[in-house]
Amino acid sequence: MTASLEHAPTLVVGAGIMGAGIAQVAAQAGHPVFLFDLTEGAAAKAKVKLGTTLDGLVAKGRIAPEDAAATLARIEPVASLQAAAGAQLVVEAIVENLDAKRSLFQQLEALLSDTTVLATNTSSISVTAIANGLKHPGRLVGMHFFNPVPLMKLVEVVSGLQTNPDVAQAIFALSKVWGKVPVHATSTPGFIVNRIARPYYAEALALLQEQSLTPQVLDACLKAAGFRMGPCELMDLIGHDTNFAVTNSVYAANFYDKRYTPSSLQAEMVAGGLLGRKSGRGFFSYPAGAPSLPVAVHEAPATAKEVTVHGSGDLADHLEHAATAALSPQGWGPAREHRSDWVGLTIDGARLVQTDGRRAGELTRALGTADVAVFDRTTTHPVAPGTALAFAVAPSASAYWQAQAPAWLSALGFSPLPMADAPGLVVARTVAMLINEAADAVQQGVCSPEGADAAMKMGVAYPAGPFEWLARWNVPGVKAVLQALDHEYRGERYRVSPWLLRQA
Ligand code: NAD
Repeated sequence: MTASLEHAPTLVVGAGIMGAGIAQVAAQAGHPVFLFDLTEGAAAKAKVKLGTTLDGLVAKGRIAPEDAAATLARIEPVASLQAAAGAQLVVEAIVENLDAKRSLFQQLEALLSDTTVLATNTSSISVTAIANGLKHPGRLVGMHFFNPVPLMKLVEVVSGLQTNPDVAQAIFALSKVWGKVPVHATSTPGFIVNRIARPYYAEALALLQEQSLTPQVLDACLKAAGFRMGPCELMDLIGHDTNFAVTNSVYAANFYDKRYTPSSLQAEMVAGGLLGRKSGRGFFSYPAGAPSLPVAVHEAPATAKEVTVHGSGDLADHLEHAATAALSPQGWGPAREHRSDWVGLTIDGARLVQTDGRRAGELTRALGTADVAVFDRTTTHPVAPGTALAFAVAPSASAYWQAQAPAWLSALGFSPLPMADAPGLVVARTVAMLINEAADAVQQGVCSPEGADAAMKMGVAYPAGPFEWLARWNVPGVKAVLQALDHEYRGERYRVSPWLLRQA
């Protein structure tokens, strides 16, 4: 049984962005902290900078002056690892390089007590590999913080093949004491967050590569679904070189599973130096950033003879309510067909259908009418007026229906954004793929469904966890979108997770 690490003397190695933040959080939680960096003077400089940060927090009334002083006093920059021989916990935050990390821990084993817990903040290297060569590999565990450390709540507690479960548990408990939300993970490529988030970028890049819509429209749709940033502005912020490197490392680490194939569009952007904010241009130009969407004004729909709202649930109820309001000037209301197994409207024989993954063009054959339009899934209820919503009209639809579909969506309270007739549109496709990746992670024992939800909400501020979305959309609904994508694109990318296939 590993003893509690609360208040244990702690050595933080690496005084860069992450190490400085980890030292702050540990010192605030009452640990004496030794801070070491290979670069002479870097640890002392980090302490001076932390002093300024703490002064700022005092000025804003966030912490008491005596707490700030005590926190700072607990941090001792050291010029050698030998000076920290009394540490009972090490958190390593040095350069992201396997050889450097391995040799550091081997050196530390020779200096520190046999019971000192060794934690690495690596974001992509196998914890199992870092432990290889240690005398006591069981005491090495991943403690993956997110940037900025003092603000981001999530800690992925990563167990390698030889990590002692007691050690993982001790770090889990300590993370809680530090005010974090820890989640257990096994050492697999990308751990939880960097793995499950891949489709958020990959699906955006795939849609852009096939010219389905513009970056502005794409971002608007996903922001309307509750994501804090659209994938295009987010990749521009992260830097396309960094984002591309992470995708490549997850791809290689999965032995080139086609599921994780990097985007040639992004490769081209990196090759051309369009790295995003840092180079002044990515999908958008900086400092201006994303241009705002042009406001489209839609006329009221033409007078109809027959309108029926189909399906059950929150969205169908919203559609009925909105259609009733839209038709009231004509002195009549829509019919309602609760038993339909799809959500949407029939309007004089034309169909306005919430996507089940299939393209509008594909539905024309199944429904026996050319006048079909599909619209994207929504994630929020009630639907806020003017919510951006992607839609696509079947290419064979009449010119009349091409104009009426957006007019109806506008009358139903949405801000309709046209895109090419691509399977799963934007939100349905992206969220289904996030769920699929999370399901695979659970299938492979990387994390629990609750862990995946907490990790995505805390680590990358998703509006809901993948399994929370799954509960709302239900398994057949998600499977249908994935199968439609798989049917259209073939290959391995959209294969349905065995975990989903096994759900009733
Ligand atoms: P950084 O470059 O800001 O800091 C790294 C520091 O380590 C530097 O000050 C460097 O001088 C020092 N260093 C390098 N080799 C050393 C050695 N052998 N011994 C002692 N000090 C050494 O890097 P960072 O962004 O703080 O990242 C550190 C680690 O945290 C990496 O493993 C990275 O993958 C991981 N990480 C980074 C982020 C992030 O957003 N930056 C997030 C999560 C995890």
